[in-house]
Amino acid sequence: MRERNAMRVAYARTKGKRYAETFRCPGGALCLDFCNSGQGIKGSRQEEWILTFADLMDWLEAAGALSKSQATKLRAAGAGSPQAAQQFLARAIGFREALARVLLARTESRAAASEDLRLIDTEYARTARFARLSSTAEGFAWSLDAAGSALDAALRPIVESAVGLLTSSKLARLRRCGSSTCYWLFLDETKNGSRRWCEMASCGNLMKVRRHRANQHRSA
Ligand SMILES: [Zn+2]
Repeated sequence: MRERNAMRVAYARTKGKRYAETFRCPGGALCLDFCNSGQGIKGSRQEEWILTFADLMDWLEAAGALSKSQATKLRAAGAGSPQAAQQFLARAIGFREALARVLLARTESRAAASEDLRLIDTEYARTARFARLSSTAEGFAWSLDAAGSALDAALRPIVESAVGLLTSSKLARLRRCGSSTCYWLFLDETKNGSRRWCEMASCGNLMKVRRHRANQHRSA
């Protein structure tokens, strides 16, 4: 619930920017919004919102994965080492694509590729040292080591969200948008499991128009 509210706030903050598109359809989990920032599979529709290290930092901050001060620290680390920043961007996108493949396979009841699962293992282990357990009003939650200035730290919130979702009962509610050309993923949180579209305003309406045209064609 708190994650969803954070997404709404994040979207308001990113309005007008290209990657704001990824928040038009809050997926219900940080890792799903991250997958949706590239239409699921890089290049599938040549839609990529995270093209540079700066885009990635902006996205992570907008999504609430990094605080303003953490993002500032990591941007400085990236500016000091452009090559490391470039490598980090490639790793983040590599992680996103592996995760998206695993999740899309799940929506089609296919087995996930073991190399994709191993990649998720690797990033989980690699970023674990930046995780800090902290008390919240409801209990405990993972947070990010505020002192961490290593670029690897930036991936931790997404990795945590991904592993959390993959091992949770919520995974049963994972859906891919009902449009065959849309790879957006979301958790269907309706009571009767009736959500079909990433968002009604784009895919939902588009499919309605297509169905309407097909019916007209048939009756003509
Ligand atoms: Zn869609």
